Amino acid sequence: MAVPTSFLHELVGSMSQGAAGNPTVAMIEAAFRHHGLHWRYVNMEVEPAKLGDAVKGAKAMGFRGFNCSLPHKVTVIPHLDGLGESAAVMGAVNCVVRRGDQFIGENTDGKGFLRSLQSVIDPREKNVVLFGAGGASRALAVELGLAGVNQITIVNRSPERGGELVKILTGKLKLDARLEIWQGDYAIPAGTDVVINGTSIGLYDGEARLPLVVDSLQPGMVVADVIFSPPMTRLLRDAQSHGCKILDGLGMIVNQGVIGVQYWTGIEPDSAVMRRAVEEALGLSA
Ligand code: NDP
Repeated sequence: MAVPTSFLHELVGSMSQGAAGNPTVAMIEAAFRHHGLHWRYVNMEVEPAKLGDAVKGAKAMGFRGFNCSLPHKVTVIPHLDGLGESAAVMGAVNCVVRRGDQFIGENTDGKGFLRSLQSVIDPREKNVVLFGAGGASRALAVELGLAGVNQITIVNRSPERGGELVKILTGKLKLDARLEIWQGDYAIPAGTDVVINGTSIGLYDGEARLPLVVDSLQPGMVVADVIFSPPMTRLLRDAQSHGCKILDGLGMIVNQGVIGVQYWTGIEPDSAVMRRAVEEALGLSA
């Protein structure tokens, strides 16, 4: 027999270690309030050694799902009942969704980016240059591959990480992907449709310079940055002044939250409400 609990609300959560993801809490709770949902999103610090117990506990207590951040994105996988397509390819989960009695791991980082990108360009058959090969780059490269891009060039400083990502793209997705080792200023090849900064260059430093030949940015290219604070990075300012369409990292954060809320609740939340909540939480609102 199910034991009655004192929970009045549906629950989703976030399992993290260290600093809590306040912009995420703010935007998800804002969506629940705006749509009159009696749900709560709670942040819990979970030690790596206790992750399995925490997942079992969330299931036992009827949680509808949770987000997980570093260092749990990979180690959570053995504790789940299954994986969505892109999470299985990239081997990392940031969003767990209860489907029936099962906890299924998804990755919404790349999906959030893809949704932003699709608001300005159809990525199918496009040529992409992606700076970086860390967790964020991996998530969005896999999602771009699944969305049918023509070709991805990964530009990365360390050959090991860059090579691992190219291996996933060419091996698991049979994609035309290549690695350029990043030395000095990289010139974007002619014929590139989409340029993405997936590195941490620019985080909390609006003057930080991504080593690239700025004049190789051509009008009509789409230039996107994963950096969300400040959202208007030096790369995006340079791209705008060269006639490119630009996408900031706030769109990616907001869209991964939108997709999480959709997965958990089944409703399509108002993304403008969520973006305002993130901007307030990051101190970006006027
Ligand atoms: P990782 O630490 O996994 O990867 C960092 C990447 O940046 C690596 O490819 C690294 O290259 C590269 N890099 C860092 N510094 C330099 C430098 N000085 N020169 C050249 N390359 C550099 O981080 P994540 O992938 O998890 O995160 C990257 C950024 O994305 C962070 O700023 C994070 O805040 C942001 N992010 C944004 C999200 C959003 O929703 N907008 C979601 C997730 C992340 P190398 O391999 O050579 O070390």
